[in-house]
Parts: sequence; C-alpha cells; structure tokens
Amino acid sequence: MPERGAVMVRTHCPYCALQCGTRLEASPSGGVTVLPDEEFPVNAGRLCVKGWTAPGVLTAADRLTAPLIRPRPGAARQPASWAAALDHVGRELRKITAASGPDAVAVFGGGGLTNEKAYTLGKFARVALGTSQVDYNGRFCMSSAAAAGSAAFGVDRGLPFPVTDLAQAEVVLLAGANVAETMPPLMRHLEGADLIVVDPRRSATAEHAALHLSPAPGTDLALALGLLHTAVADGHLDREYLDRRTHGFDETWRCAAEWWPERVERVTGVPVADQRAAVRLLASARRRYLLTGRGAEQHSKGTDTVSAYINLALALGLPGRAGSGYGCLTGQGNGQGGREHGQKADQLPGYRKITDPAARAHVARVWGVDPDALPGPGPSGYELLDSLGRPGGPRALLVFGSNPVVSAPAARRIADRLASLDLLVVADFVPSETVELADVVLPVTQWAEEDGTMTNLEGRVLRRRRALDPPPGVRSDLWVLRELAVRLGQPPERFPDDPRTVFAELRRASAGGPADYSGIDFDALDTPAHWPSRAEGESTPRLFLDRFAHDDGRARFRPVTHRDAAELPDADYPLYATTGRVLAQYQSGAQTRRVPELTAGAGEAFVEVHPDTAGRFGLADGGLARVVSRRGGTVARVRTVASLRTDTVFLPFHFPDAGRANLITNPALDPVSRMPEFKVCAARLEPLEEP
Ligand code: SF4
Repeated sequence: MPERGAVMVRTHCPYCALQCGTRLEASPSGGVTVLPDEEFPVNAGRLCVKGWTAPGVLTAADRLTAPLIRPRPGAARQPASWAAALDHVGRELRKITAASGPDAVAVFGGGGLTNEKAYTLGKFARVALGTSQVDYNGRFCMSSAAAAGSAAFGVDRGLPFPVTDLAQAEVVLLAGANVAETMPPLMRHLEGADLIVVDPRRSATAEHAALHLSPAPGTDLALALGLLHTAVADGHLDREYLDRRTHGFDETWRCAAEWWPERVERVTGVPVADQRAAVRLLASARRRYLLTGRGAEQHSKGTDTVSAYINLALALGLPGRAGSGYGCLTGQGNGQGGREHGQKADQLPGYRKITDPAARAHVARVWGVDPDALPGPGPSGYELLDSLGRPGGPRALLVFGSNPVVSAPAARRIADRLASLDLLVVADFVPSETVELADVVLPVTQWAEEDGTMTNLEGRVLRRRRALDPPPGVRSDLWVLRELAVRLGQPPERFPDDPRTVFAELRRASAGGPADYSGIDFDALDTPAHWPSRAEGESTPRLFLDRFAHDDGRARFRPVTHRDAAELPDADYPLYATTGRVLAQYQSGAQTRRVPELTAGAGEAFVEVHPDTAGRFGLADGGLARVVSRRGGTVARVRTVASLRTDTVFLPFHFPDAGRANLITNPALDPVSRMPEFKVCAARLEPLEEP
C-alpha cells in the first residue's frame, strides 16, 4: 500500500540505453519504491533486477553530500563549503590556463548524463574554458557503430526504428550483443524470432539462440565477410534494392569474394555448415533484423567490423525496409543523446561536425560567441586521458559522470595519469574510484532527484522527472557548471541551470543538424518524440524508409577486409582474454556495487575459464587466479564454464581495485572511431593463494 502523502512520478530507469519506463513513489518519510511503467512500450511492464533495485543508489550509505578539497599536494582532503570549493577550482583553473593556455585544462564527460548536462558540459569546455580537450566515455562504448552507421546511412541513430518493431521479426542476427543480461526486457520483443547469436561465449542470449556462432575473439570481421560471401554465392543478393538504394557494392564484393567459407572457418573456427545455416535462416525470412553491440565494436578494427555487418544487411536489402532493418544496441543510458550534443571531441550540438564552418557559425550564434574563438577538434577519450600530466598535455581535468579509473583500458596507466595532474576535479554522487583520486570532489544530484531529458537507443527523447529532493548539500551538475563558468568570467545567464531553459537552447542549437530537436517541447514529453523533429510536434520513429540521409538518398557500402587483433596469443600469453557485462552490474559498477541486492550474487570479480584450461593452468573452480597480460594482472575468482572456448577467458569489467578487468585490456585504438580494443588481448593465468 502506498504510504499516505506518497507522490507517484513517471520517469525512467537510471541505467542502460533501453531507458525502461518506471513509476517512482517517494514517501514523505524518504522511502522510494519503483514500479515498471505499463504504458511505456519499450519495457511494457518489465524491468530487470537493476531497475527494480535502482532506489538503492539514492540511499547509498556513502553518498557524497559535501564538497571536499585537498588544500595542498599530498594533504588529506577536507570538507569545504560550496563557495570555498568553487572559488578554489576557479582560481586554480585560471592559474593553469594563464600559465599554459586553455588546452592545459581538459574535460571528461559521460554517456549517462542528461542531454542538458552533456550539452552544457561541451559548451562550458569550449566557451568558459576555451579548451579543445573535451571528450567522454562514450568513446569506449559505441563510437565504432556511430562511425560505421554515419558512413553507411549518412546519420547515426542506434535503432532507426522502434524496439517494438522487433516483435514482428522472424529472424534476428545479434552480433556481439548479450541482451538477455544487459537489456533483459528487450528479449520480450525477440520471443517470436529465431535468433542467430554471434559471440565467442555461449552467453545467456546464446542460450536462446536457434544458432550460435562462436568465432575466436577478434575474428568477427572475417566472419561477417564470410557471411556476405555465402549470401552472394548462394544467390541471396537483393539486386533490385542494391540498384535503387545503394552505392558501392562491387568494390565491397571484391573484398568479400576472398572470404570463402573454408577460409573463414580456418580463421574464425566457425564451421562452414554453421555459416551456411546462418545465411539460410536470414535469407529465408521476410521480416529480419541485424543488430550489433559492443562485441562487434570494441576492437582496433571495430568500425570495419560493424561496416562488414552493415554491408551484409545492405546486400540482403534490410535497412530502410518496413519490417526489416539494421541497428546498433547502444549501451549507456544516454549513450545516444550523450554523443549528439557536443561533449564529443569532434562534434557540436545537433550532431554537427566541429570542423564544419556553417555548424560553428550556427552554434556560436546560439551561444553568443565569436565562431573563430571556438576551439577545433581535440583528442579522443583514451588519447586525452593518456596525455594528462605529460609534457604539453593537460595539467587539470574535470570529470562529470564517469569513472575512468575502472572503465578505461590499461587502467593502471590511466590512474597514474590522473594522479600526476596538478588538479583533478570530479563531480559525482558516490565516491567512485576516480573520486578517490580527486583533489576536489563536488557532490551532485542523481536521476530521481533531477529533471531533464534522455535519448534512448531508438532516438526517443524522454523526460527524466524529479521524484524527491536531493540530500542537503548536494547540487545539480548544471548549477555547478554555471557557478564555475561565472568564476571563469562568464555572464551567469549564458549558463542557465534550469533544465527546461537549457533544453530550449539545445533545440535552437540542434536546429538544422542531423540530430534536430527543434520541434520537441520539453513539456510535451509525456509522449516521447523520436528525432529528427524539425517542426513543432514532429516525431520520426522510423528512418530511411524512403531515403537514406546522404545527399543522394542512397546508402553506401564500405569495403573492408579482415586484419588480426592488435595482440594475439603467444607462448608467454597463450589465451585470449575478453571482457563484458553481467546482469546485476552496470558499467564501472560505481552505482550497482552499492546496491546490496545486486552485490549478493555478483559482488566479486570473476573469470570464466573452460575446465580443461583451468586444469592446464593449475586452477580450481572457486579458487583465486591472477589473469596477466602485458599491461599487468588482475585478480579474479575462477568460474569453470564448460561451454566456453578452451582458448578464451572472460572477465566482467564492473569490479574495482585489484579486480579491475581493465588492468589487463589493450588500449590499441580503432583508426576511425578511436575506440580501444576492450574485447581481445593476450593473457595467461596464474593460481593465487587466498589472502
Ligand atoms: Fe534499467 Fe536497462 Fe534494466 Fe531496463 S533493462 S530496467 S533500463 S538496466
């Protein structure tokens, strides 16, 4: 029974890109309960365990409620008033900028920030700081699919159709997407389809598959080329679609022609019969979809891998056809909106290129600044973090909504870079591992304590609604950015802290861009709208039905060919190590590790190992192991899994300290998207005594 005086608020889950609808009930005594929103079609009355337990983060025992300052290098941090903390940061930033120029200060954002925060953070970096050194953790998450999607279709929107369309599918190929664990409510829409799952592991999703293809880590690109080869060789090419809606097949075919099934089997380990069965299944259906996830993307060739899957989808005539399609399953809660509004190194609001003079002029006009004063593109996320404190690199960093000490590859190196700074400022609501290193900590609001908008994986713009007051002492990120901007000499009215006002400005800044929000009314978002929305009330749930977003309306094939991962197993490091997620944890775990119901079953770092491999390295199920790569070692509890490949170990990346999977991952970058190779590195196993 609801407590007397309880208030019911419609909002959305704080975690993944599905953005399941919820109804929050906040009672006067401070209790919060969550129920699924039956009317929101994406989750239609379902939540995963993370959504059900999300209120636990609001009441985390170690919630940050007062600013902290380290008064001098090496000293312990002390509580401070907001005025003292902001004055201190403003003074230090001015000092560093005066001595070393604006690029001596960097900003790192997050894909969980609301659209208003992401927009304001990019504006703050470029206008208040004048720095080009701004990027965000979405660079670790889905920049490869964004690059491949933009190249093929002229614009990148994760799913160019509503999730509910998938319920009509007969066949769905999921490449590197473990939705049964990462987005369980999505599985409901896939119940009627035969699933083809491409994953080196027999994941929870693969358990539901009609066909599971298990390529060796780092060989997905060869597999995708092989599937295209078989599709063409077996007569499934949609010639009419190719001629009418695409460019560039012939050059792409020249690459795929070399990937005949037997060669693909030699490289990937996927039997010829399974390759043929996958193509047969896909080709036999009328309503079919091809979806990619992080497993395809997080490679030093992630953009090419996603392009190879898009090439396959185009060859079969799927994108832009009612009842079929290609899409990317975005990961973070605002992974889509977070990359559209200017916190990415190479982009301005509206998904505009920062190098485009017309885009610069438009956005500068909205911001009331000189376009020539706007900095150009800066380095990508990992490159930015790796340059911190080095000669010529930034000396100060401001982090909003991210925990790179756990989530960045080669995590020890990144933690060392952060520790070498003159000033590290972190805004967060819990003491994450990155907060632990900060010189200044700024406690900010979280999901149920704030208003704003998010854009989910379908490009659907949603209202996040405030259900309860934040703890005393906590401020909103927008307020923090305005107060810092003022201390850097900006007029306060240039940095509003009211989300409704920021959204109104964002609409104008995005107008005319690929991600155009100009027709979306903040107060009309009881009915969420899909961008682009160029006229009042316009919503575009399905893209590409008539034309793709390139000037001539046609999609582009992108010729690609296979190459090895940056690091392969050898005598010293004889195994592939691959990383991923588990149901009960989210991203770096900074939030979900604070929810007892979630840590009960998944509170400790573990490594999945085939029983034969465990025996080979002297490991026992349930014992401890060190997983070692060229970057160092991580400590994890051994779980033997008979379905795993004997050449591969799997580690979830949600855990802190010595259990960080990213202590071993390889920061080799994709040349196009600059995404690191989280999904494959060479490793060995060592047994470890219990401490
Ligand atoms: Fe939240 Fe994602 Fe789970 Fe839905 S699937 S409840 S959005 S974590």
